[in-house]
Amino acid sequence: MSQSPILRRCVACKKLLDRKCLLKVTRDFQNGVVLSAGMGRSAYLCRNESCFEEALKRKRLQKALRCDIHSSVFNMLQKQLNTCIDSDTEA
Ligand SMILES: [Zn+2]
Repeated sequence: MSQSPILRRCVACKKLLDRKCLLKVTRDFQNGVVLSAGMGRSAYLCRNESCFEEALKRKRLQKALRCDIHSSVFNMLQKQLNTCIDSDTEA
């Protein structure tokens, strides 16, 4: 079974990238805005500081998710920058 990468678009630079290399922010219908979890409208962001700053400055994630995002979410995002770990250990 070969799996082709699932491509998602970064909200800051608009590049299509493998979902594994992006941070996922979801507006969960119950829990509000969460990272890498939840069900609902999602937005993706590259794991690099320029995209993070672009998203922060221009409120790209807020616009994509159509809601406010608490600064704690941005703090969590920032901690996960530059960590493009391939979490697929099954291969
Ligand atoms: Zn980007």
